[in-house]
Amino acid sequence: MGQAVTEPAPQLFDGATGKWEVVIGLEVHAQVSSQSKLFSGAATEFGAEPNSQVSLVDAAMPGMLPVINAYCIEQAVRTGLGLKAAVNLRSVFDRKNYFYPDLPAGYQISQFKQPIVGEGEIFIELADGAVRRVGIERLHLEQDAGKSLHDQHPKFTYVDLNRSGVALMEIVSKPDMRSSEEAGAYVRKLRTILRYLGTCDGNMDQGSMRADVNVSVRKPGGALGTRCEIKNVNSMRFIQQAVEYEARRQIEVIEGGGTIAQETRLYDANTGVTRSMRSKEEAHDYRYFPDPDLLPLVLTQAEVDAIKATLPELPDEKRRRLENELKISPYLAKVLVAEKETADYFEVLVAEAGKRTGKKPAEMGQDSANLLVMELFGLLNKDGRTIEASPVSAAALAGLLALRLDGTISGLASKEVLAEMFATGKDAASVVDEKGLRQVSDTGEIERLVDQAIADNPKQLAQFKAGKETMLGFFVGQVMKMSQGRANPAVVNDLLRKKLAG
Ligand code: ADP
Ligand code: MG
Repeated sequence: MGQAVTEPAPQLFDGATGKWEVVIGLEVHAQVSSQSKLFSGAATEFGAEPNSQVSLVDAAMPGMLPVINAYCIEQAVRTGLGLKAAVNLRSVFDRKNYFYPDLPAGYQISQFKQPIVGEGEIFIELADGAVRRVGIERLHLEQDAGKSLHDQHPKFTYVDLNRSGVALMEIVSKPDMRSSEEAGAYVRKLRTILRYLGTCDGNMDQGSMRADVNVSVRKPGGALGTRCEIKNVNSMRFIQQAVEYEARRQIEVIEGGGTIAQETRLYDANTGVTRSMRSKEEAHDYRYFPDPDLLPLVLTQAEVDAIKATLPELPDEKRRRLENELKISPYLAKVLVAEKETADYFEVLVAEAGKRTGKKPAEMGQDSANLLVMELFGLLNKDGRTIEASPVSAAALAGLLALRLDGTISGLASKEVLAEMFATGKDAASVVDEKGLRQVSDTGEIERLVDQAIADNPKQLAQFKAGKETMLGFFVGQVMKMSQGRANPAVVNDLLRKKLAG
């Protein structure tokens, strides 16, 4: 299903010759979430002792044969479907040949002309609310290489092959982005989708996701310029910084009379600059050819459909449902779907609150969202904790919500109860009892307080009688104070209106 998109508002850079527009395309490498590697049974767990997760296949011992990991294939198909992309029923694994010490086979098994997934799309939202569509060119599967360790010995470089053979999905976008903000929003959204799908954990600091950032500049509306590719950028912030630096650099080169040579560059996060790594002329001829050890990968439509049937609800759809069916405001819906953990927590919260109150999701969606985003998030942030580490579970928070919705406690008391639940891990009902926070809804008791408030404040009463309607608030305040915040405000209001009118 499509989405209403907004006209692009390109980020413009000032040059000596006028305005310039930046054009960005991203190649994201996402490590497939799987227990074992793409063509071997070795483990993939992060942080293991160097070279402790290397099979004979990963070490490229002579005569070893790759055996395809069906689960990795399933994960790639699932990702393709999540990106609304065409899944190719026939794809081919090729050898990409090059020499590097961390690549023992002398080639990487990848997909070149016939990838497993074709064109798809991602919708991104910008800070000003604009929605853009970014086309996906393709997704292909490939093996990761090992890692050279240059800091272990003063004279030697060590090689760790734990990553060798780990399955990667390379997700290639069209050159559809027009600002560093869009590039950041794209990677963030892609990461969210992968995490919803469970196909990549998205841990950029562990290298599970990294991006090659292609940047070119042009005069607004002109033909596409020559791109430079900035390799292996591993954080959202660096991606945005690299785009900005590279755009300015290219503008300066062109305006200085030079031309942009297509080349591969590196981003140095310490200095914030990109520098040349190799030019297109020195570019490798990878001599791609179909890997003779592997047959073409053939899937049936039935297999693809079976995977499709297991897809979870994705962030865009979830957000629409939260807005349309649960009547949650667009802002809160956006916050709730942005992280999978938040969305999961919220679903449990609404389900549990429904059980306790008998209310339909639409009747308490916004209240649930408010409690989670406006209150629990506040406590979590102050403590530097994530939602997974929340001392208040979704079920426990539902308990609090139920007490608030049925009038057992006031909104004010609810904040106090939540703070105590957060600090002690106790459930809502126990805290309410211990602190004596049960709201007083008994009319008789409140009536006494109302009468007393009126009797104690003849001056304010006269003002009210003289037509100063706002004095009602004063009397509500008095009664609430006398009840130590426990009087049900609705009942107080009701009684005061009657008495003051009389
Ligand atoms: P390569 O193998 O040379 O890296 P790919 O097709 O894998 O080529 O990736 C090319 C990437 O560069 C894509 O993400 C594409 O969107 C992007 N791209 C292509 N042309 C331009 C351009 N003129 N400016 C910016 N990005 C571009
Ligand atoms: Mg590429």
